Amino acid sequence: MKQHKILFVDHIAALGGAELSLLDLATAHAQTSKVLLFQDGLLRERLELAGVQVTIIPASKTMLNLRTSGGLNSLATIPELWNMAGMIAQEAKGYDLILANSQKAFIIAALATLRGSPPIVWYLRDIITAKHFSRVNRRIAVFLANQFASKVLVNSQATGKAFVAAGGKQDLLDVVYNGFDSRRFDTVTIQDINKVRSQLSIGNAPLVGLFSRFSYWKGQHLLLKAVEELPQVHVILVGKALFGEEDYVSELKSLASKPELQGRIHWLGFRNDIPTLMKACDIIVHTSTEPEPFGRVIVEGQLAQKAVVASAAGGALEIINDGITGYLFASGDAIALRQRIQKLISDRNLAHTLGQQGYVSARKNFSLENLLDSFEQALLEVLEV
Ligand code: UDP
Repeated sequence: MKQHKILFVDHIAALGGAELSLLDLATAHAQTSKVLLFQDGLLRERLELAGVQVTIIPASKTMLNLRTSGGLNSLATIPELWNMAGMIAQEAKGYDLILANSQKAFIIAALATLRGSPPIVWYLRDIITAKHFSRVNRRIAVFLANQFASKVLVNSQATGKAFVAAGGKQDLLDVVYNGFDSRRFDTVTIQDINKVRSQLSIGNAPLVGLFSRFSYWKGQHLLLKAVEELPQVHVILVGKALFGEEDYVSELKSLASKPELQGRIHWLGFRNDIPTLMKACDIIVHTSTEPEPFGRVIVEGQLAQKAVVASAAGGALEIINDGITGYLFASGDAIALRQRIQKLISDRNLAHTLGQQGYVSARKNFSLENLLDSFEQALLEVLEV
């Protein structure tokens, strides 16, 4: 693979799915490329550990906290945006292209092209709909993409479809799915698994895992509701509120304190040993109530060779073939979720088969090599122009 000189830009330094995927891309290009962040955080540490050069251009709190669902108040930050665009243009000197990994990073980097920066590619990892983005923000981002982006990479067809529905140009798009190194899952030992289960003191009880940051639309409440009437089932909730959604966590804690759920919900916080934890589970669930742009945890659950039950919307539909490589259930339907879990618990052979077929599919369609190849292919189209 030719090592292009890429300036990766992201405004977030917490470890969300988009940032974990950036970590893979930046690590593969560590020799020639650099990552620019607008704040310091765990992502910087992980990048540096992987040998990736990182520069931080700190953004003001006002800008970092500006919600993508906010409205015209975003205009108040224009002077700062312009100033940061100048700094990005400066940093980008000598690079082949800028890869913006988040919407805010893209908006600022798009302005940098007016100040003499190299071509810009936006890796769009969000479904741009009214649910998550205000009208103003959608319009600005899509306008800038149509005007300034040499390409818009999308993490699923669903993400691409929403971009076009919001007015984005179809011919800018290339689907670049997330990719995963299956060795992280294949090397988990039985001892690692037993350790997790014994720490939970759950004996042989069925264990269902939900791996996600806490946010209402990630649907942790649905799982709590679903297992209320499955008294033998234990649940691990893995993740934390990354973007200030602590109120939702309090709501969940109060739901979990119901007598029916007492002692069965285990809060593990944010973890770096996802493969081991997934392998310790019997079933992995994905419960987003809104279409998930991609759904990394779905593929990870398949790589752990577990039956995955996911909300039937967005990227999940491109990952799971219902009843073959996992199960889908109607988004937001706690009863349907409960029925799928119940079926898998009572039919261990079926759970095993779904887990095996999911594993084969994940390795074939979402390998790290696939990610790097499709990324490379898309960039070549930009660089060869
Ligand atoms: N994750 C993690 N530690 C946690 C919870 C989640 O490393 O405690 C990882 C998870 O394995 C997945 C990513 O965070 O790779 C979440 O990506 P996904 O696409 O599922 O959701 P997003 O965060 O992008 O909305």
